[in-house]
Amino acid sequence: MSETTRFAPSPTGYLHLGHAFAALFAAEAAGDAGTFLLRIEDIDRTRCRPEFDQAIDDDLQWLGLQWQVPVRRQSEHFAEFSVAFERLKEMQLVYPCFCTRREIAAEIQASAGAPHGPDGPIYPGTCRARSDTERRERLARGDLHAWRLDVAAARARVGQSLSFEESGGGPNGEHGTVRATPEVFGDVVLARKDVPASYHVAVVVDDALQGVTLVTRGNDLFPSTHVHRLLQALLELPAPRYRHHRLITDQSGRRFAKRDEDQTLRALRANGATPDDIRRMVGLTSR
Ligand code: GLU
Repeated sequence: MSETTRFAPSPTGYLHLGHAFAALFAAEAAGDAGTFLLRIEDIDRTRCRPEFDQAIDDDLQWLGLQWQVPVRRQSEHFAEFSVAFERLKEMQLVYPCFCTRREIAAEIQASAGAPHGPDGPIYPGTCRARSDTERRERLARGDLHAWRLDVAAARARVGQSLSFEESGGGPNGEHGTVRATPEVFGDVVLARKDVPASYHVAVVVDDALQGVTLVTRGNDLFPSTHVHRLLQALLELPAPRYRHHRLITDQSGRRFAKRDEDQTLRALRANGATPDDIRRMVGLTSR
């Protein structure tokens, strides 16, 4: 079956073995007749750097991958993400959150048994309860704020039977029709002052705009897929299928991260590794 797939790295560091596996996996999942896309997820302008963006291109070409051009750079599409965000705002499914990180941490500390999500304790919902008058006043006065999705209201709007199709195996071997449980993250942030669109909004808008039929990504993003499914339903976007994959770890079972400089593709290449060596190192057979 031919699919449209994508590899969507953020240019915040050099690509490492984990990225190589994700890119090769996505390209292979497209199939010979399919389309493989590269998308640069660079909405966080404080963390992304042009030299890493250029390095992504070099490293993937060296690995032997080919993708459709032009490459989509998310930083060039904030206007499109804003349209999606405004729709959610019009549906009254987002609210301004004025809490600082410190206030949220204090609130969580004070409430014994605060619910935890995949990334730790979830936002206790302090600002969800504010009145419209207070919100208007604080916004008018220019108080710093983020915008959060009211996940319970969003859930009520789309109905309870929300699911996605999984053809890989999630962190717990999930396969087939998976019931979406976006509420596990609590009220996620959808926009901030410094980054006007969140990863969640940008991903669902772009996957739809680019006609992605199969999203392949690491199991670490499995919980995010549940949030994406909810946003797709709210924004009436087509739902791609999903294939989550294993994460590449070092000998001690630790995931590679940007800090593992000797495991970047450029370091391995400088030390004489070939693209086939990289394939073997991530557990793929050589071509
Ligand atoms: N940009 C994300 C990352 O670097 C992945 C995007 C996705 O698969 O949705 O981990």
